[in-house]
Amino acid sequence: MVHTDTPRVRFAPAPSGWLHVGGARTALFNWLTARHGGGTFVLRIEDTDADRVTSESARGLMAALRFLGLDWDEGPDTGGPHGPYRQSERRPLYAAVADALREAGHAYEAFETPEELEAERRLARQTGLPPGYRGGHRDLTEEERAAFRARGRAPVLRLRTPDEGVASFDDVVRGRVEFAWADVSDFVIQRADGSPTYLLANPVDDLAMGIDTIARGEDLLSATPRQLLVHELLEADCLLDRALDHAGLPPRPSGPAGGSAGLRSPRFAHLPLLVGEDRRPLSKRHGSVAVDEFRRQGFLPEVLVNFLALCGWSHDGVRERFTVDELVALFSLDRVGRNPAYFDTDKLRALNGDRIRQLSDAELAERLAPCLAEADLVDSPPGAAQRRLVEGLAPLLRERIQTLAEAVPLVAWLFRETVEYDGRAVARHLRKGPAAQVLRASREALGELGEWTGPAILAALDGVAEGLGLGRGKTFQPVRVAVTGTAVSPPLPETLALLDRATVLARLRDAERLTAAPA
Ligand code: GLU
Repeated sequence: MVHTDTPRVRFAPAPSGWLHVGGARTALFNWLTARHGGGTFVLRIEDTDADRVTSESARGLMAALRFLGLDWDEGPDTGGPHGPYRQSERRPLYAAVADALREAGHAYEAFETPEELEAERRLARQTGLPPGYRGGHRDLTEEERAAFRARGRAPVLRLRTPDEGVASFDDVVRGRVEFAWADVSDFVIQRADGSPTYLLANPVDDLAMGIDTIARGEDLLSATPRQLLVHELLEADCLLDRALDHAGLPPRPSGPAGGSAGLRSPRFAHLPLLVGEDRRPLSKRHGSVAVDEFRRQGFLPEVLVNFLALCGWSHDGVRERFTVDELVALFSLDRVGRNPAYFDTDKLRALNGDRIRQLSDAELAERLAPCLAEADLVDSPPGAAQRRLVEGLAPLLRERIQTLAEAVPLVAWLFRETVEYDGRAVARHLRKGPAAQVLRASREALGELGEWTGPAILAALDGVAEGLGLGRGKTFQPVRVAVTGTAVSPPLPETLALLDRATVLARLRDAERLTAAPA
């Protein structure tokens, strides 16, 4: 429709409080299309289904988009020339369109109750007829309508679909798509309470906002012929332009010649489904599916973006690592495949681990800080001493974690005043064997050390091992459990060096009471 040189695309979520990774992939493909072409990315909140939504839920969704770095040029908070961008604030437009469609005879009032429609469906199932509304109230007379009203029935508004012929369009991903109109029944565009359905509000806004490319999930493919029909009717007799004017909303973006918007519908790209390991649509059964859960687990946004880009798109079928800038430069909807996209969490973890290894100490510390703050280990933002500590930890953690949150159990002891002992580690390494001697000898050796550094601590503990005739394992593990509370930590001498000496000595002394032969 609008033939500006640069794309105008949108992400149009129905807010449900959180962003599913499938939605994030849709947002990303649209965002990349906009950024690649120097165009405009519009965020439109499709909140016409008043029961399901609260303004809170749009907030969670926007926070997830921001975390991923998918910024929008026009949207509910940023505003823009073709708003408002919340459908709940555009009701007068949909009402004006619905009225105009009814007046022109394209839409009609239907008075069936839900029970009557259900009975119709049941009958269709039993007799092998296709499902869907059979058009019973298509041609009611004025008297019949009045009689229904008199009985207290409120009508929905249905759009007439053609009885025959084929709806077809060229999908960027799927090629030529055709639906027989005989299979598309008259559909509801306005509910009995006057609110518009998705099938009306969505195509109205796509035209009103001058959207020229729509990338969305394949599950919406069957809505497309119905929305194309709405587009066609909106263009006829300037119906949409008049409705915009009537509702006091801004006119559509104009085409390159400065005239009114063109006559073509946006092009569609229906993105392949995201599936889990069992090839079924990705859902909570498969584990985390909310962007915010991945954030809390410590996945980096640039890795999620890289990974989601690979869920359906490929550059050359081989390359898997892309920075966000590279994706912007290379992305094209033409290279989205039709096959279901496997959401491979192992691959995501591996990509995340690789990215963590690329970060400098300072960068890794910066990424870790919010994660440690969320676990209540450091302040948000961390103080100077905490920051130094986290930066000191970065090189010790880098090879040991695939997600940021995996650092938390490894380092929590460094930030806590008191040691939280893991019972199994105590039983294995403190209650048994020569732990008491090890702790005492280590305390003495560390107490006498000239400098408090990793190599000096290592030499001292090696000296203890030698003096007692023990291996490193038998020496290091009791010390580790005494100081950290657990049997797993980053390399012991370097980590001890990050803690102050007095604390280490005090912890060694405290732990002696847990050993088999208390001092
Ligand atoms: N609000 C719709 C949804 O969340 C948008 C579909 C579309 O992109 O057209 O499913």
